[in-house]
Amino acid sequence: MLELKNITKEYPNGDTVIRALDHVSICFRENEFVSVLGPSGCGKTTLLNIIGGLDRYTEGDLCINSISTKKYRDRDWDSYRNHSVGFVFQSYNLIPHQSVLSNVELALTLSGVSKKERRARAIAILEKVGLGDQLYKRPNQMSGGQMQRVAIARALINDPAILLADEPTGALDSESSLQIMELLKEVAKDRLVIMVTHNPELAEAYSTRIIRLRDGRVTDDTMPPEEEAAPSPSKMPKKEKKPSMSFFTALSLSFNNLMTKKARTILIAFAGSIGIIGIALILSMSNGIQQLINRMEQETLSSYPLTLEKSTIDFSSMMSQNSASSEDIQKDDDHVYSVNVMSTMMDTMIQGSKTNNLAEFKRYIASGESGLEELTSDISYVYSTPLNVYRTDTDHGTLQVNPNQIFSELGMGQVTQSGSDLSMGMQPSMDVWVQMIGNEELLNSQYELIAGHMPESYNEVVLIVDENNQVTDFTLYSLGLLDPDELEQAIADASQGEEVELDTSTHIFSNEEILSIRFKLLTNTDLFAKEGDVWVDKSANQAYMTSILNASEDIEVVGIIRPAEGSTTSTSNGVIGYRSDLMTHLIEKVNTSAIVQEQKANPDTDVFTNLPFEAAEVADRYSMAELETYAATLPEPQQAELFGYVEQMRMAGMSDDQIATQLMTSILTQTTDATYGGNLRLMGVADLDNPDAINLYPIDFEAKDKIAELIEDYNKTLPEEEQLVYTDYIGLMISSITVIINAISYILIAFVAVSLVVSSIMIGIITYISVLERTREIGVLRSIGASKRDISRVFNAETLTIGTAAGLLGIGVTILLLFPINAIIENLTSLVGAAELPPVGAIVLIGISMLLTFIAGLIPARIAANKDPVVALRTE
Ligand code: ADP
Ligand code: MG
Repeated sequence: MLELKNITKEYPNGDTVIRALDHVSICFRENEFVSVLGPSGCGKTTLLNIIGGLDRYTEGDLCINSISTKKYRDRDWDSYRNHSVGFVFQSYNLIPHQSVLSNVELALTLSGVSKKERRARAIAILEKVGLGDQLYKRPNQMSGGQMQRVAIARALINDPAILLADEPTGALDSESSLQIMELLKEVAKDRLVIMVTHNPELAEAYSTRIIRLRDGRVTDDTMPPEEEAAPSPSKMPKKEKKPSMSFFTALSLSFNNLMTKKARTILIAFAGSIGIIGIALILSMSNGIQQLINRMEQETLSSYPLTLEKSTIDFSSMMSQNSASSEDIQKDDDHVYSVNVMSTMMDTMIQGSKTNNLAEFKRYIASGESGLEELTSDISYVYSTPLNVYRTDTDHGTLQVNPNQIFSELGMGQVTQSGSDLSMGMQPSMDVWVQMIGNEELLNSQYELIAGHMPESYNEVVLIVDENNQVTDFTLYSLGLLDPDELEQAIADASQGEEVELDTSTHIFSNEEILSIRFKLLTNTDLFAKEGDVWVDKSANQAYMTSILNASEDIEVVGIIRPAEGSTTSTSNGVIGYRSDLMTHLIEKVNTSAIVQEQKANPDTDVFTNLPFEAAEVADRYSMAELETYAATLPEPQQAELFGYVEQMRMAGMSDDQIATQLMTSILTQTTDATYGGNLRLMGVADLDNPDAINLYPIDFEAKDKIAELIEDYNKTLPEEEQLVYTDYIGLMISSITVIINAISYILIAFVAVSLVVSSIMIGIITYISVLERTREIGVLRSIGASKRDISRVFNAETLTIGTAAGLLGIGVTILLLFPINAIIENLTSLVGAAELPPVGAIVLIGISMLLTFIAGLIPARIAANKDPVVALRTE
């Protein structure tokens, strides 16, 4: 069944070759116990390795079941070793980090036997060699004889046709030697056993056939088989399944290996994790900073929206033109040159402010096709309708709270930015009432509630205090919480050169006091009442005002809020914040009021005077009859008045025609000073579809640029004169910040890359060291049929395990480190939670750690796979 035909094996040795086997021809029976004897170096081990398929012959042929192995490929040899051959070595070659049971099972895991059967067969075979009670011991806890028995069990587990034993008793005492020989004799009953030994007595006592070798040649063979007639049917399987190790086996093999060297593995993982820690820390910091910047961006932009105003001058284009040099002439240091900007400025001025068609743009936004929703945290519309708010419940009588009256008292006139909520922006406003942004999420992130609740309907407002719960006394005077008369008195004193005596002590109000404040909302139209045919301004009439205020709507202070910790919102503190729907409510109320309805129904007549806005056409002559016809249309008292004039003029001696012509001309040319538009403005009428300004609050700087692009695209669809013009103050001021942020990010990325490279190189080196250490294990695995791929799997599993451990450890250490780091940052900069590891980042980092160590381990794993199993087994 097994026949060596003229086998020669040569090892290259420098320029010469060493001939370990020299034309060896041996034929083995299916069932015998062969001992190979010979002095050291005569080629015994080489012979066994070639028979076992571990080594390749140089010349000749090895026939298995009368089939030549000349055409055998690697996988055929792997399969042959796994299924047909068992190896027993002088030095046992057990895998030290696996239990006895696992060592024996190993060959079965390669042949793909189920776990249950594997276990049963391994236990059975271990019982057979007398080790049924030592299943879970480690090899190093056993005696030499016991270890050799484990090795024999391992060799027998696949029930191979051939058992090869290389000096199996060489390292054993004589008693153990005898036991092993008994065992081998037993084993040889139903298979071919070929044993190399130094000991002729043992050979003679136990084996059935002795072959002597000398200098690579067979010198004696005690019982060569005669030419047998017909080869007996072989028990060696013809077509064998390709052995393969499951990845799980590889994983458990390397995991067990790592577990035997716990301290070292932890150190390696820690060393590997340093790179990960570095990256994770950088990631945490940059993530924290990025979040901080985002928040700042958002808050800055919520204070500085992009504003489109109804009428505007494009300052930014003017400013950018200023720096342009006018003419392309050669300039030298001996002269001074002019830059001509005046003509451009004059042009801008003369063309005057441009009117933006905001009604159309609002429609465009409302259509939902603008794409602005995703880029903005809020879009607010500003209307010029004045917000008249009073307090009737102060200790100092009725007080107009908004528009603010304090400055008119200071003699500076009324300073209000009517029609814009820029008070949240760049120009300091004296208005105590500000419209809050409509994005509640953003609002809630910027402010924290200290008392009450956030406004939920138009008639609810909040008091905004600063981070120390303070409001200015200016606000207090404005809101009537302090006596404005005191202020007036002080101002009067000051203007007379006297010393100002104002109470400078701190005023303290309870939250309940603040939350009990009630305001009264008046529309401009409320100030007018109809008397006879005309509407009259009654704002100076105390009694009228009192009654109208009593009947007007209440506005409640429902909450007190302050800027959230770490919030950079620049909103002036100590103001009343109202919802945008207060404005809408007000506008609707104005637009439906009687006076506005009447004015709109009679667009030619001034409702305050009942006179036409424009003069009617006048004829050259009128008769008294025509005057009387006209007079008939007038109410009784006016008729009487008119005829009174006629009498007076008659007395003065004028003719009827003269009187009629003069009176009719003066009546018909009589017009009001007002205009229709002016009247509507006076009444506070605004068109909800046509705002006076649109504020776009971009999410971040990039969104702002995109919004600018969108507006540009929008403009492209319009003729030149209808294009929207706006001034991008913030863009002019802070566009460079984004550049700086990007530069910092790039530097951080460079750091990250270096750390990654360093840590993966290190893992590669460590894996290579592991390969060197486990050389013998590689040889053993190959001898029981593991393919090259299986070997590389074992090491890939090991690097993966280390990579995972390093990743997990790195993330764990980072999370621990973030506590002190955040504490230090908070201490130095009062930034809370600046460094924060994003969960996705953590997972990605573990993945990167696994991937990189895997890649770094590929080369060492390949080196391991390509190790010659013969060399590997000879390595001590
Ligand atoms: P034995 O087992 O009988 O002591 P070996 O089969 O190990 O002898 O070795 C036979 C001869 O082949 C020896 O001279 C040895 O030096 C040589 N030899 C074995 N393996 C190698 C090798 N990988 N490279 C070079 N020479 C080798
Ligand atoms: Mg040897």
